[in-house]
Amino acid sequence: MKQGGNRSVAIVGSGPGGMYAAQALLEKAPGTRIDIIDKLPTPFGLIRGGVAPDHQSTKRVDKKYSETASSEGIRFVGNVELGRDVSLAELEDIYDAVVLAYGAPYDNSLGIPGEDKAGVFGSNAFVGWYNCHPEFRDLNPDLDVDAAAVIGVGNVAVDVARVLSRTPAEMDKTDIAGYAIERIDAARLKDIYMFGRRGPVEASFTNTELKELGELEAATCVVDPAQLPDAVPDTLDDREQKVKTRILETLRGLSQAKPGVKRRTIHLGFYAMPVEILGGDRVEGIRMERTRVENGRCVGTGETFDVPCGLVVTCIGSRARAIDGIPFDERRGIVVNDEGRVKPRVYAAGWLKRGAVGTIGTNRLDSYGVVDLLIGEFAGVPRPGPDALDALLDARSVRRTSFEDWLEINRLEVEAACGGAPRRKFTAIAEMLKALDRV
Ligand SMILES: Cc1cc2nc3c(=O)[nH]c(=O)nc-3n(C[C@H](O)[C@H](O)[C@H](O)COP(=O)(O)OP(=O)(O)OC[C@H]3O[C@@H](n4cnc5c(N)ncnc54)[C@H](O)[C@@H]3O)c2cc1C
Repeated sequence: MKQGGNRSVAIVGSGPGGMYAAQALLEKAPGTRIDIIDKLPTPFGLIRGGVAPDHQSTKRVDKKYSETASSEGIRFVGNVELGRDVSLAELEDIYDAVVLAYGAPYDNSLGIPGEDKAGVFGSNAFVGWYNCHPEFRDLNPDLDVDAAAVIGVGNVAVDVARVLSRTPAEMDKTDIAGYAIERIDAARLKDIYMFGRRGPVEASFTNTELKELGELEAATCVVDPAQLPDAVPDTLDDREQKVKTRILETLRGLSQAKPGVKRRTIHLGFYAMPVEILGGDRVEGIRMERTRVENGRCVGTGETFDVPCGLVVTCIGSRARAIDGIPFDERRGIVVNDEGRVKPRVYAAGWLKRGAVGTIGTNRLDSYGVVDLLIGEFAGVPRPGPDALDALLDARSVRRTSFEDWLEINRLEVEAACGGAPRRKFTAIAEMLKALDRV
């Protein structure tokens, strides 16, 4: 085992990418001093602000992250933003290595006319809104519309359609923002249209998530049976065949349901891509073009149809942004890297490294691999480490939060919860800091 000795590492971002990097350093280079820097006062990235509020069991991965963050030699340095409070060049001076794991939270655009109309939201903003992310709490989406369109057929799209269909009773044991469930319940919303460019076999939702759409208290999910193939293609490998066959069975089950029976209907549609957002200043509808899949490629047929709707949420993937001149691949929306190496002593991990794909678990193996490289490349005279960061941030009067502060925020949130809810989240950074000042 290689010892971290007097080395120090800054990890920027406390989501899964960053937390698994910290865990790997702890295991593989014990003694390394590790600062996990995050722009929010609270840790764990999309585990807190992305994963659906009604999927509390998925969020439990934070227990392991908490253990890691509480370990000796590790600090959480919250409320500190790379590019605002500290630069990459400064981190390079202070630490022996820097792991950039600041995620990919910027929605891909549809690239069609009308996309800038009021009422069109990217999934990061919309999901952040119902999950109390401080940057999106004031999003104020108007849900009091007859119909909404969700663009995409991945798990994030399923999350959005499902959350829009849940009743307050179904959300009782979740940590959804109170303002969000009130608005969802009050909305006259009747129809939620989900659209995938390709067919059911190509869709990226998983069977577990899909099945949930068939089990909603006040919403029915319907699928046109004519869009379902008789069988999955035999060109897929055995594992994929099994996975896709199960999905097809679930879709066949959904295709038996009738629209309009419950308060809301989710219409799951395939082979359609958006070509224009219709309306004046606000969205009033979406123009879709029928597609077909040819040799694995999606091609437009020229046949269009319009769907009236007052809300559009795009769930078509997201990208990172460059900070401080970090080499950036504009096409893929990730930091340019070779297996995680960005430049000498600077590494990338998580979605910033690979793009916004895969599950929480995918980040584990990946971050462990990056840390293997990093440890092997420790060289030169050790740099000053955490004390130098403190001196720099003190000189700039940057207010930071520690892991103990997070535990206090957590305690207050848990204490404020009503009924069976696990917590009632703070939604503003200023409120969190004020609460910490009071204790
Ligand atoms: C809506 C949604 C739901 C999901 N649900 C699931 C699920 O149920 N199951 C599953 O397995 N996977 C799910 N995923 C995928 C999973 O969340 C990702 O794989 C994972 O979060 C990626 O980790 P990351 O560390 O790269 O990024 P993130 O989790 O985004 O973490 C990045 C961190 O960097 C911080 N940061 C950003 N900019 C700066 C800066 N300039 N300075 C300092 N800090 C910064 C952020 O505050 C954040 O804490 C979901 C993803 C989304 C978008």
